[in-house]
Amino acid sequence: MNHDRSRDLYDRALSVFPGGVNSPVRAVRPYPFFINRGDGAYVVDVDGNRYLDYVMAYGPLLLGHTLPERVTARIQSQLSDGTIYGAPTEVEVELGEFIVRHVPSIERIRFTNSGTEATNTAVRLARGYTGRDQVVIVGGGYHGAQESTLVDGDHGEPAGPGSAGVPASFAEHTISVPFNDPAALRDVFEERGENIACLMVEPLLGNYGCIDPIDGYLETARELTAEHGALLIFDEVMTGFRIGGLGCAQGAFDVTPDLTTLAKVIGGGFPVGAVGGRDEVMETLTPVGDVFHASTYAGHPVGMTAGLEMLRYAAEENVYPHLADLGDQLRAGLTDIVADTAPGYTVVGRDSMFKVIFTREGGDAPGDGCTTGCRHDGSCPRTSYCPQDAAGVDAAETERWERLFWQGMKEEGVFLTANQHESQFLSYAHTTEDIETTLEAYKTVL
Ligand SMILES: *Cc1c(COP(=O)(O)O)cnc(C)c1O
Repeated sequence: MNHDRSRDLYDRALSVFPGGVNSPVRAVRPYPFFINRGDGAYVVDVDGNRYLDYVMAYGPLLLGHTLPERVTARIQSQLSDGTIYGAPTEVEVELGEFIVRHVPSIERIRFTNSGTEATNTAVRLARGYTGRDQVVIVGGGYHGAQESTLVDGDHGEPAGPGSAGVPASFAEHTISVPFNDPAALRDVFEERGENIACLMVEPLLGNYGCIDPIDGYLETARELTAEHGALLIFDEVMTGFRIGGLGCAQGAFDVTPDLTTLAKVIGGGFPVGAVGGRDEVMETLTPVGDVFHASTYAGHPVGMTAGLEMLRYAAEENVYPHLADLGDQLRAGLTDIVADTAPGYTVVGRDSMFKVIFTREGGDAPGDGCTTGCRHDGSCPRTSYCPQDAAGVDAAETERWERLFWQGMKEEGVFLTANQHESQFLSYAHTTEDIETTLEAYKTVL
């Protein structure tokens, strides 16, 4: 593969952007390839190399790179009517109604421009609604580049800053606990329950190895928050309208939070986010209540149109069952390959999300419940080896994954997310043939 033009572009990019990129995960070594265009399930780089794409923009592109004609027609029609007005539009009401109709926890919603803005607003809302300051999050969870959740550690104590520039006095209000550890949650709520505004958690740990919740974990989170008068926030920025179809992960796992944050898929490829939840909580936002949220671009007509038309398409066509099928084919194939070539490794994910985690132990073949991705099934001989939290993923061969495996797959023409921690995504544009090609590539590179 020739990468001359990407190399030149990275050289120029280094002169204008810190690290040559606008979001750090893109700075793969030695330099990223620069995309010229997307085409269905593929991307083509500026040197003309074509890759089967499982990054899918890190989640938003449910249908792949080529939108159905009826979706692009509506986006273009909105564009020719103008981009933004500073006054409400019909399309934002329609997307709001669509989401309220399908997501169990959402009775009322406020649109934002990104996942970060959504989680930031959700935390402020929880604090304003409860009159409490402390926030509980889960180690390895990601809630965007915002001050309340960029903290280090998962020991059930007030945490330290997770980034330079976050004052220690901010981080003191945030407590982090390990994922899938109901006892740690119980301890934190027993000790500090009356000061806790909310527990914010990804219902499936998507930003740290794609880890399923163990049986009863989300239910415990629901019970403890209710008992202590704190809000349960599901950060479904990644899982929303991807896991569990139109009902999102909360529908799939049958646990209803007080608030939900969304972004990624709901923008149909444009920057859109949202926070939604119970009427009574949502009504504490300005202009009704006294918790401030505002944005020039919130409810942007172009993003609203793209999101609405794409979700309508997903509702009317066989998108989610097809994606779940493809995902099962891919994960089952990976499970077989791993059993042959790298029996220590673990296949994880569900629906259209997947990853192979380079765990170091657990050579046993998975039990029946886990053949299409680890479900922490108690009867599975691998249960005690499969990662259940961030520490389990950190213990894997993260360097081998990133420096050798990622590069090897790229050379085979398969574009994976940049490191061991980020989930990978199927789209409606992927085909059974693509899955076969991908499995061959895994077989060669693993
Ligand atoms: C991507 C992501 C965010 C941040 O969203 P941005 O749109 O990148 O700001 C927050 N939470 C989760 C769970 C995410 O996956």
